[in-house]
Amino acid sequence: MRISIHLIWLSLFIASCSISLPSFIHNPAVNALDSTQVFPQNNSLLQLKRPTETAVPSITPTRTTSPSPIPTTLTPTSTSTSTPLPPFNLCSPLDVHSLEDLEKITSDPYNPPAPGKDFRHHGIDFSHYTFGDFKTIQGIGVQTILPGIVASSIGGSFPFGNMVIVETPYEYLPAQMSKELQINPLESLYTLYAHMEETLMVTLGEQVLACSQIGTVGRSGNAGIFHLHLETRVGKQGAQFPVMGYYLDENTAEEKEFYLLWRTSGEFRHFDPMLVLDRRWVPNGK
Ligand SMILES: [Zn+2]
Repeated sequence: MRISIHLIWLSLFIASCSISLPSFIHNPAVNALDSTQVFPQNNSLLQLKRPTETAVPSITPTRTTSPSPIPTTLTPTSTSTSTPLPPFNLCSPLDVHSLEDLEKITSDPYNPPAPGKDFRHHGIDFSHYTFGDFKTIQGIGVQTILPGIVASSIGGSFPFGNMVIVETPYEYLPAQMSKELQINPLESLYTLYAHMEETLMVTLGEQVLACSQIGTVGRSGNAGIFHLHLETRVGKQGAQFPVMGYYLDENTAEEKEFYLLWRTSGEFRHFDPMLVLDRRWVPNGK
């Protein structure tokens, strides 16, 4: 009897989570930045005004309705009931270049801005004109670095061009990686791949393994040369970004909201992708 009461409580808890997530997904409701602030229509990424203190709660109106505090002892059992977790694996984002090669082809390292700012580099760029047998990076296969769920697949956005975001939930990651990257239960690691060539190979909501090809290296969006721009962030589980865009006259309010939610809201905190792209997580990997 005592066990069944726990199960009922757990079911209610899970149900309440699944109810609250979609409203977060579909209503980022960024109480956006000062609409009077003018952004030039060129390629420079400017510093964005940090959202005000009063604006922050409106970004995640469901937060206060979440059950809290969350009993930490329940977290492991809630993930092991139904669908099996995908095997953990880690891959280079470029299918012909190994994890060890990445440092040699880093053309623009992680150069994080102050919190709430858009400028300068939230991610890392990989590019080369010639490397080994390869005379260009254009067209080289872009693949997922971790298993997960496609949280965004957008063609022709700006500044990211053809882009994909993959969510890797906490439960998919080794405990030591979550600990070092400060990823907590009910959070996920999100990876963004930008500036790909025209063809996108995955759709929103699709499950992917590590090393799944999602596109090829291009220079779509705000990119002067062929390169892969990669961002890694930590945020609440279950987020999706169906549209995203900024800096162009034609960008809609919804595109801007999702862009700011990703980039400057603080809800998705960025960190150096090279902390993930480390051979020590897959000592026996290829
Ligand atoms: Zn970049």
